[in-house]
Amino acid sequence: MEKRDYYEVLGVEKVASKDDIKKAYRKLAKKYHPDANPDDPETAEEKFKELSEAYEVLMDDDKRARYDRFGHEGVRSDFGAGGFSWNDFTHVNDVSDIFGFDFINSIFGGRGGDIFEVFFGGGGRGRGGMHSGPRTGSDIRIQVNVDLRDVVSGKEVDVEIPRSETCDLCRGSGAKEGTAPQTCTTCGGAGQVQSAQQFGGRRLVTINTCPHCRGQGNMIEHPCEKCGGAGVVRARRRLLIQVPPGAETGTRVRYAGQGEAGTRGGPPGDLYAIVNVRHHPNFDREGPDLLLEVPISFAQAAIGDKIEVPTLAGKAQLTIPPGTQTHKVFRLRGQGLPHLRGAGRGDQYVRVILETPRHLTSDHKDIFRKLMDVERGVKGSKDKGTRKKGHSKIFKGKKNGK
Ligand SMILES: [Zn+2]
Ligand SMILES: [Zn+2]
Repeated sequence: MEKRDYYEVLGVEKVASKDDIKKAYRKLAKKYHPDANPDDPETAEEKFKELSEAYEVLMDDDKRARYDRFGHEGVRSDFGAGGFSWNDFTHVNDVSDIFGFDFINSIFGGRGGDIFEVFFGGGGRGRGGMHSGPRTGSDIRIQVNVDLRDVVSGKEVDVEIPRSETCDLCRGSGAKEGTAPQTCTTCGGAGQVQSAQQFGGRRLVTINTCPHCRGQGNMIEHPCEKCGGAGVVRARRRLLIQVPPGAETGTRVRYAGQGEAGTRGGPPGDLYAIVNVRHHPNFDREGPDLLLEVPISFAQAAIGDKIEVPTLAGKAQLTIPPGTQTHKVFRLRGQGLPHLRGAGRGDQYVRVILETPRHLTSDHKDIFRKLMDVERGVKGSKDKGTRKKGHSKIFKGKKNGK
């Protein structure tokens, strides 16, 4: 990003007095203070810092003169390699009411660490360069889609993932071949520096991240040609993901160390493959159990039959006993899916649906008329009027859109 002109940042003229600059800073600092912008503290933080950098330079006669003559280049050496940081802000006393006494006191009270961290709640915000020492790489999460049939015996899925990897040329050091990172002369390799400020008649000692090496403790004079000194490079990596037998949607498969590369010698993160099992048009599933609906005819239901029903692996025989009612559920033991944990398999349930014939041939019509005559001849039929409710409590959840 192009650095903005300091006068523009503060909204003052080139000839502005220190009073004008201070007024402008106070006004804008209150506006951009992260506490005043809870919806977007990140952006506010950046603006507040930009503003403070401008203030730092323009309130200092020497820095301002160099800036007026040479622009940003003229004050570059006043700040660390990463540019202006809070360590470089020497005017806390001028505007301490904006920063807040609690904040300054919290540093004095020994919470320590980087001013920035204490101020903004610290850590865990992924701010690079603020923590010294090795850092574990981030985890990567990917979704792996499989069909229900794949779950029967598991599946190997080929994926390509973009990730950062430790640079193989410099082995993560960031230094050019034949050179090594040099111990930082500012902090002596500690990654931290102490600075003292007068505040309210007291001397405040703050321990901050070294601005020169940004907490790394060393400097790279000759950066690696491949990674530019970062120690890591972006790569696309092909991996074979093993979806285990019995996997369900949401099943996580972990690949230790296959996540983003760590930094400063830290270990890589992990890769999590999260399984998504596509919906099957015929089979419903609950854990290792399957449910299938098959149509049967009046004749089959009435006098019984042996039918063939599909399973995920092939086919199975099912005996329909005489007098079978519609929606009766039969169980085919062991014809379900393997258990995700432990041995054995689930069952396949078959729900028979009695289908009323829609298109009758003349033969059909004859038979049904005869049947009707027979039924009319039967007096006091037991089944008239009352029926028991359906048999199938199994897979009740199905209706709830599961
Ligand atoms: Zn490298
Ligand atoms: Zn240093």
